[in-house]
Amino acid sequence: MNDDLKALIRTIPDFPRPGIQFRDITTLLLDPAGLAATVERMVAATQGPVDLVAGIEARGFLFAAALAVPLKAGVLLIRKDGKLPGATIAEDYALEYGQDRIAMHEDALVPGQRVLLVDDLIATGGTARAAIRLLRKAGADVSQAQFVIDLPDLGGADALRGDGVRVDALFD
Ligand code: AMP
Repeated sequence: MNDDLKALIRTIPDFPRPGIQFRDITTLLLDPAGLAATVERMVAATQGPVDLVAGIEARGFLFAAALAVPLKAGVLLIRKDGKLPGATIAEDYALEYGQDRIAMHEDALVPGQRVLLVDDLIATGGTARAAIRLLRKAGADVSQAQFVIDLPDLGGADALRGDGVRVDALFD
């Protein structure tokens, strides 16, 4: 099933820019059995109890919510700055050109809560590392992160491990 599952993710060349091989998980989401198997595997890879699953905008939200239900956890949204309605805390991170900022509600978690970070894909790790800094600034205990896809050549998963986070991904 591993290969079948991976085959549900398509690669779109040169999106959103020339040279980027975009891993498109919308085709996986469309497949009921594939989606269920993906969620089951991510739940099985989760270590110990978690209080909250933090999803990164936007595709991370889908997997965060799907995992949170069987894990009996809540969902915490990490969004692009300026999108959340309540008072927020934010964290900047570097992009290839320039920088970006992500935010969460400042009262979204109680210090000490165990948070699992989830996104569809990790590449350089810039986004996930900023999310971990943000969650830790709020007092979260972030010891694990899960992704559907890891692009290991870009080093993001290893960087996260260096931050003291266990990293699991279904595919590279
Ligand atoms: P990074 O911060 O470099 O680890 O990039 C991760 C974020 O960008 C995730 O939210 C991904 O959804 C998105 N992303 C980066 N590279 C790709 C890619 N090749 N295909 C699909 N999404 C990507």
